[in-house]
Amino acid sequence: MLADAMATVREFLEKINIDAALAFDEPLSAHTTFRVGGPADAWVEPRTEEALAALVAALRASGLPWVTLGGGANVLASDSGFRGVVVSTRGLASIRRDGNLLHAGAGTRVTELVASAIGASLAGLEFAAGLPGSVGGAVYMNARCYDREFAEVLSTVRRLDADGSIREEAIERGEWAYKRTPFMAGGAQEASIVLGASFRLEPGDASALAARARELEADRRAKGHFDHPCAGSMFKNDRAFGRPSGKILDELGFRGRRVGDAAVSEKHANIFVNLGKARAADMKALVDSARAAALEAYGFVLEPEVVFLGDFPD
Ligand SMILES: Cc1cc2nc3c(=O)[nH]c(=O)nc-3n(C[C@H](O)[C@H](O)[C@H](O)COP(=O)(O)OP(=O)(O)OC[C@H]3O[C@@H](n4cnc5c(N)ncnc54)[C@H](O)[C@@H]3O)c2cc1C
Repeated sequence: MLADAMATVREFLEKINIDAALAFDEPLSAHTTFRVGGPADAWVEPRTEEALAALVAALRASGLPWVTLGGGANVLASDSGFRGVVVSTRGLASIRRDGNLLHAGAGTRVTELVASAIGASLAGLEFAAGLPGSVGGAVYMNARCYDREFAEVLSTVRRLDADGSIREEAIERGEWAYKRTPFMAGGAQEASIVLGASFRLEPGDASALAARARELEADRRAKGHFDHPCAGSMFKNDRAFGRPSGKILDELGFRGRRVGDAAVSEKHANIFVNLGKARAADMKALVDSARAAALEAYGFVLEPEVVFLGDFPD
């Protein structure tokens, strides 16, 4: 990175002195499941909600670019990294039970949340067994698997709004749709940050729930989800089009297609994988060629589900 930009970010973070773990020039390849991406100028992991709110307020006032990152399971980070501050929610990991409600901090891993629910004999979250990423990311993305989505089990969401206020509110189902949530309004820096969520669950039989979770994890393994670094589905599925994106890419012969070490999975054409040393530019080139092919063949625009972080030259 440029030395003067680094100095500005360092000076800013030293001045505000928040309760957080800090790193500079932090490789994003270490924090994304694609294992791709150059360095972020600064990486900050606030240890409390208050510290995160103070940091974000200061960042908003400073005009420095920043972005929120959960588990990095749905992000392709640029080879040049991110010029600004990555605010990680990893420090906000907690789980608390209150009757049939389970409360989790944004940085809690979804796999830990699912295990806790099952351990407490609470049913409703098994569908998310084996889903990589954080609770905050899953709520923000309304993660969906096995015909169920997070919005169906959410009771309340605790969020930090752009005006600096923290609110915990029951969710309005009308504002949620397939891979759409009210938090996505505005650009990354205006969007609300999910601080935590509570899930309304039902009493269940722990061994039956655990068996279902194992079955779904095995299904993910069989589909090759964990064979290579990836970020799950590359494109959203547009039901109006009548065919899932993977089917479209299959018909267009994309299964196994490669640009450098970026490849379309041999097992599922909507999963793009890093075969070893993939660069973000290679992955982007593969994404662009898939979109161009779908547009030419069907007049259909494939919409990426994976979030692109940093600069990607056209
Ligand atoms: C092997 C594999 C399988 C997958 N299978 C599925 C699947 O079946 N279904 C599915 O839906 N997804 C799937 N995914 C994608 C991924 O698991 C989900 O999108 C997950 O919910 C992302 O969570 P995250 O914490 O990693 O988010 P990140 O990747 O860290 O962030 C994704 C986006 O959310 C924003 N964000 C993250 N945390 C917050 C927060 N607290 N507040 C506000 N914004 C936030 C980020 O700014 C970014 O825009 C899969 C991924 C992998 C690697």
